[in-house]
Amino acid sequence: MKLILLGAPGAGKGTVSKLLTALDGSVQISTGDILRGAVKDGTELGKKAQAFMKAGDLVPDDLIMGIMEERLQQPDCANGFLLDGFPRTIPQAEALEVLLDRLNIKLDAVVDLDVPREVLLDRLTTRRTCSNSDCQEIYNIKSKPPKVEGVCDKCGSPVIQRDDETEEAISKRLDTYNEKTAPLASFYEKQGKLMKVNSTSSDAVVAAIKQKLGM
Ligand code: ADP
Ligand code: ZN
Repeated sequence: MKLILLGAPGAGKGTVSKLLTALDGSVQISTGDILRGAVKDGTELGKKAQAFMKAGDLVPDDLIMGIMEERLQQPDCANGFLLDGFPRTIPQAEALEVLLDRLNIKLDAVVDLDVPREVLLDRLTTRRTCSNSDCQEIYNIKSKPPKVEGVCDKCGSPVIQRDDETEEAISKRLDTYNEKTAPLASFYEKQGKLMKVNSTSSDAVVAAIKQKLGM
């Protein structure tokens, strides 16, 4: 399947993507993960992106489009992909249209995961992430704590609170989402591609997507 997943930080894009990739071998493409990897490896891209990310600001569109142009041409995308965290602005969405046309790729749908702000805030402030960039397992101190406090069940690395998951950065990310990314819903609705789902349970989201795609 070839999908865009829209949804505020904490809406469950990562969790839903993981469930969907298990269905048909599509790959999850998260610009956030790619950027965090670049920051950790200290690449040119990472150096340019770091300050924006730490403040909860968006990374400039031209950097993001460079990443995506390269990523979408990797052979593993042929089986399908789930775009998680991209596009994030109308200019990115417009540039993506041009890029997909050029690569002869057609999207199946754009899924908008809808979650109330109070729920998002609660989920994000209690979220913890495995610090190992090859693992990045997500935990929640209330609903899904690691078996041993502060230690990843999967790989044993420390489980941490991300820099951009402090109260202040979170509230900024939600405001940025409402201002810059929420307008993408109507952009795709006009094209008849939008599918809006209530995202309180990730299993229900996956079921709705399977139904929509006739799987
Ligand atoms: P979130 O949980 O906020 O959805 P992500 O992991 O998707 O977090 O992204 C983390 C950070 O990486 C964002 O706050 C932003 O600084 C940057 N980022 C990720 N994707 C994009 C994008 N498509 N455009 C601009 N900045 C991005
Ligand atoms: Zn881990």
